[in-house]
Amino acid sequence: MTTPRQLRLSPATRAAQALRYIDPITGAVTPAIDLSSTYARDENYAPRQSYIYARDGGPTVEHAEEILASLDEGEGALVFSSGMAAVVTLLETLETDDHIVAQKVMYHGVISWMLRLQEKRGIKVSLFDQADENALEKAITPETKLVWIETPSNPTWDVVDIEAAAKAAHDVGARLVADCTVAPPCTSLALALGADYVFHSATKYLGGHSDITAGVLTCARADAHWAEICQLRTLLGNVLRPFDAWLLIRGIRTLYLRFERASENALKIAQHFENHPKIAQVLYPGLPSHPGHEIAARQMTGGFGGMLSILTKSAKAAHDVARFTQVFIPATSLGGVESLIEHRKAVEGPNSVVPDTLLRLSVGVENVDDLINDLEQALERTG
Ligand SMILES: *Cc1c(COP(=O)(O)O)cnc(C)c1O
Repeated sequence: MTTPRQLRLSPATRAAQALRYIDPITGAVTPAIDLSSTYARDENYAPRQSYIYARDGGPTVEHAEEILASLDEGEGALVFSSGMAAVVTLLETLETDDHIVAQKVMYHGVISWMLRLQEKRGIKVSLFDQADENALEKAITPETKLVWIETPSNPTWDVVDIEAAAKAAHDVGARLVADCTVAPPCTSLALALGADYVFHSATKYLGGHSDITAGVLTCARADAHWAEICQLRTLLGNVLRPFDAWLLIRGIRTLYLRFERASENALKIAQHFENHPKIAQVLYPGLPSHPGHEIAARQMTGGFGGMLSILTKSAKAAHDVARFTQVFIPATSLGGVESLIEHRKAVEGPNSVVPDTLLRLSVGVENVDDLINDLEQALERTG
């Protein structure tokens, strides 16, 4: 007998098999959920494995982290009780007078937290226009410690060149964080493009079923700064609970399949409505007319995803469409198997810079004709 040739498994296979999980005792092919909050020591009073107390993490949490580090091609991953919990923990490493450069338009909660740190903690924040190719480099100063990008970014789906952003950050010794919530590892590998950290709201595509809130950080290097983030998670107590970590693993097993279908559906919807008489504009990085299309095609190799925005010809029409759909569910969030529609300005509040004609669509995995027909009937009713 010859020795078997070791196959190099693609990420889609590693995800589908939860890193080829087979329980060594029972043979179960589905990971078990370890719900224990504490772990008994052995006869020498030593921890049996690395587990002591659940606020540090545990076997199910670690299993989710191993899968995520593997898919993002990072040295380590941490899972948190929500995306914002991960954001807050990472930003907690900053010191007074440190300078953050971030996008003017991106997830509003992240901007709000940064502005709070500016007000309460003396951290300096500069917001750059992500739609302007040169604005990021201009905003960076020798004091910059952290550059935060989100690509494609909510809710205009502007595309930021990850490789160029990493170079600009590294030129002054700053770290780059890429919020890849909308471009998970099945399509973008931001660490390979030079980002130091990738952040995902796993509430969205990674979970994929609108049944958990979860956040993920993956690191290019497990260095001293990463160790500080790990320690802060334990101190802040915002680790993902094991049951939710298990649901996250379950979601990730179909990530590649779901994302492919959502991308196909979204492209068909974008093409259908691009020159529609009742639509002013369609924003989708998969359309050649989108200003970020070329960069997106380079750094989103597994599809452009299910997120797009359509702009109606009046604010009232946008508001009405969000009320009249029968398949698209009028709810916030994104990345689930079910399609959602959202009047973004109403959700972000009066200070939002989002146009009031904008409808954000999170396209799911349903039959695409049903989705197109639904938007058509809702638009018809706007008169
Ligand atoms: C949802 C979201 C967040 C925040 O994550 P939560 O899981 O809701 O805390 C951050 N960034 C982006 C792009 C998001 O869509």
